[in-house]
Amino acid sequence: MEQIKITGIVTHTADFRDFDRMITILTPDEGAIGLCLKGCRKPNAKLRAAGQMFCFADFELIKRPTGYIMTGCSVRDSFFELAMDLERMQAAGRLCSLTNLLFEAQEDAQRELFALLLSAITTLAHAKRVNPSEVMLLCAIRMLDICGYQPQLDSCVACGAPVGAGERAFSAELGGVLCDTCAGQDANHIRMSAGAISSIRMAMELPNTKMATFHFGTEIRKQLQQAISAFFSERLEQKIRLD
Ligand SMILES: [Zn+2]
Repeated sequence: MEQIKITGIVTHTADFRDFDRMITILTPDEGAIGLCLKGCRKPNAKLRAAGQMFCFADFELIKRPTGYIMTGCSVRDSFFELAMDLERMQAAGRLCSLTNLLFEAQEDAQRELFALLLSAITTLAHAKRVNPSEVMLLCAIRMLDICGYQPQLDSCVACGAPVGAGERAFSAELGGVLCDTCAGQDANHIRMSAGAISSIRMAMELPNTKMATFHFGTEIRKQLQQAISAFFSERLEQKIRLD
């Protein structure tokens, strides 16, 4: 029996039996930890706060061969403001789902993914003015970079020919832009403007703290939501929503 202290964010919850709840906690050092909080849905439960989605806290756990048991939770931020704005909460929820999947796929990137998710949730909960769709998209583009999924943007993914500025066909399946000659190689390609392509580059270089200040513009955002969600869906083999 080993006692451990971890700092993490609750990124998934599922009610279980009458008063129990299964939760997933993402941590920068210990990966994803899943456990059952027995009785946490009773009105005066000691660990009630730990069972809330988005709870960012220091958790005390006991590690047993059969799994983890939580013995304590000291909340750093519950991000309760998210519950008052459906769009912000939905964006935070979608980013948690995506990060849960990436934690499984990319063990080496967990620390950076955690820092990014925490910044995004903090921005969504606390920024006075913010467009939740933009934060979600920006965060997803930065996740591509962190996870080594960078789309190829300078040359055609099919033939390798350099592609100049201008509107391009983008293939989520092949992983980048296609030249005019090769555009037919992916019938599901998405048309992407020069502005959308350069926005991907800019978004990848933005510091986490500047999330609320970056703006894509409506048309570019729509193109990128479609392209980036298709790109992730292709790599994670399930439907990823960023709208
Ligand atoms: Zn080509």
